[in-house]
Amino acid sequence: MFSKKIIVWYLRNKRDLPRRNTRNPYKIWLSEIILQQTRVEQGLPYYLKFVENFPTVEDLANAHEDYVMKLWQGLGYYSRARNLQHAAQTIVNEHQGKFPKDFESIKKLKGVGEYTASAIASFAYDLPYPVLDGNVYRIISRIFGIYEAIDSNEGKKIFMKQLNELMDRSDAANFNQAIMEFGAIQCVPKNPNCNVCIFKDTCHAFLQNKIEQLPFKEKKIVKKDRTFHFMIFTDGKKFIVQKRNEKDIWQGMYEFPSSEKRLRDNKNIVHQTELQKHLLTHQNIYYDFTLIYQKKLEKENQQLLVNYEEILKLAFPKIMHDYITKKLNLYLPQTLKKNNGRSK
Ligand code: SF4
Repeated sequence: MFSKKIIVWYLRNKRDLPRRNTRNPYKIWLSEIILQQTRVEQGLPYYLKFVENFPTVEDLANAHEDYVMKLWQGLGYYSRARNLQHAAQTIVNEHQGKFPKDFESIKKLKGVGEYTASAIASFAYDLPYPVLDGNVYRIISRIFGIYEAIDSNEGKKIFMKQLNELMDRSDAANFNQAIMEFGAIQCVPKNPNCNVCIFKDTCHAFLQNKIEQLPFKEKKIVKKDRTFHFMIFTDGKKFIVQKRNEKDIWQGMYEFPSSEKRLRDNKNIVHQTELQKHLLTHQNIYYDFTLIYQKKLEKENQQLLVNYEEILKLAFPKIMHDYITKKLNLYLPQTLKKNNGRSK
């Protein structure tokens, strides 16, 4: 029987992940959101930081937005951090600070979709909701030879039906953990080690040599190209920064102002980088930085003047944070750097 087989495999092979040692729905939710689209090794330190800084849902709900973004810095997909805080506020305001216990209320929280709601409902309360994420699509399509597109509505229904039939309803938490773990460490996207797999005698993809073809996807992601020429204006002590408030990538984070054109032949240019490329899921970002000296800084209304130490406390997208910590510090006169933060 599929569910028994995979649960036995799981109990022998599972990694020690924090969400496995808790039934606390708040911590399970944090870990699920943080680990979405993120490797465990990368996400784990963030999970620990969040639990330490916000031990309860009230702590997260009441935190300053900038502080939440700062802790999230470097993890990407920043809307997850904003949604996390929004959902924490909903739990405090509408559920008296108690994490909801039924599937529908969990699913209504901002940033929580079908998959995350199922994970929380099963891991925290043992409710029989199966998790259907990329890993699970892959396993089911390969083992059972399902060629329906996983990104089509019809495909979703077929996979969900199959998963519901496979699920052990009396052991929902272990079943879900097992199938996710199996996708994460055994039936991996590229070159799975089928020779040691418990399903190798019946797996369609292995027996028919179709591992590369499954799971099948209909649409290709069309990526948009965008270019940002970031301009870092400084008088040697302070810098102009601004918050990204529009509904766009990096919303809620800080940035340097940018211009349409790369600044050239200006005697006030202190440092300029080459155009570099940064890949996001739906966008290719081309960017460069120009550090410009201005004797008297002129900022616009919504912009801020901050010194280097203050910059380090704000949340910047990774590409900017790297420039700030690896390059910008080199162009600050050492004396000013020492005095920054202590100035009145
Ligand atoms: S035999 Fe290979 S393709 Fe099939 S489930 Fe196992 S690891 Fe995945």
